[in-house]
Amino acid sequence: SQTRHVALITGSTSGIGLGIARALAASGRDIMLSGFGEAAAIDALRHEIETEHGVRCLYRFADLADPLACRALVAETESRLGRLDILVNNAGIQHVDSVPDFPIEKWDHVIAVNLSAVFHCSAAALPGMIARDFGRIVNIASAHGLVASVNKSAYVAAKHGVVGLTKVMALENAQRPLTVNAVCPGWVLTPLVQRQIEARAEAGGLSVEAATAQLLGEKQPAGRFVTPEQLGAFVVFLCSEAAATLTGAALPVDGGWTAQ
Ligand code: NAD
Repeated sequence: SQTRHVALITGSTSGIGLGIARALAASGRDIMLSGFGEAAAIDALRHEIETEHGVRCLYRFADLADPLACRALVAETESRLGRLDILVNNAGIQHVDSVPDFPIEKWDHVIAVNLSAVFHCSAAALPGMIARDFGRIVNIASAHGLVASVNKSAYVAAKHGVVGLTKVMALENAQRPLTVNAVCPGWVLTPLVQRQIEARAEAGGLSVEAATAQLLGEKQPAGRFVTPEQLGAFVVFLCSEAAATLTGAALPVDGGWTAQ
């Protein structure tokens, strides 16, 4: 029997990462899940993915703010699932404050999780991909990897950094069957954005519906959310042979946000 490819998706206990993990499992890859969550819920999810798609699905916790934990997560994926062919650097956090008010520890934490973890996980994954002569690294950046918004200094700096790091890793591996790309989603309705909608509703004395419409209306011409399922399908395409020469790109999936 042919060996199945293995995909590690960081931050796959929720939101976009979970959508990507489901899509990669549906396309026949073994999966390593990672991220915060309640043990029983994660175990149920793991079993659901295994039975629904007939692949192996394991879980390992790692706090990606810690460089050694990033590297250990990759090493354990290789040792428990035998290889690592697809790395999706998806875990990310947000903090909203103006630059003078931005707490130092929040700055450091956002940069660590949203940018440095991409470096550490990729650095650990690349040698195995190079040795096996195949690899796909997909970094989930953001529309905020291409343009800015007020009060998101650390996030915007980290996501622009991810786009730059993506280009370097793509160039370093351009002559190999190994691609590195950044996906730049617009608004996706996940817990990360739900919290921003609730804060907006509270600050403006608005209903959640009105706050949602305001959030979309400011940035996303489509007027509707990008979905985790759409992003999952896009990542599956990036991992395919059809995308073998698509590398070093920052690809918006943003309902027109960055076309403006
Ligand atoms: P989410 O909050 O639903 O999921 C984030 C995931 O990252 C969770 O699994 C969480 O456990 C994990 N995580 C957070 N901190 C971690 C840490 N220190 N160590 C390990 N895991 C950690 O958020 P989401 O909206 O699905 O975001 C996923 C990615 O997509 C992020 O990088 C985010 O910046 C990016 N993104 C989101 C949107 C959006 O509108 N939701 C838009 C553009 C980009």
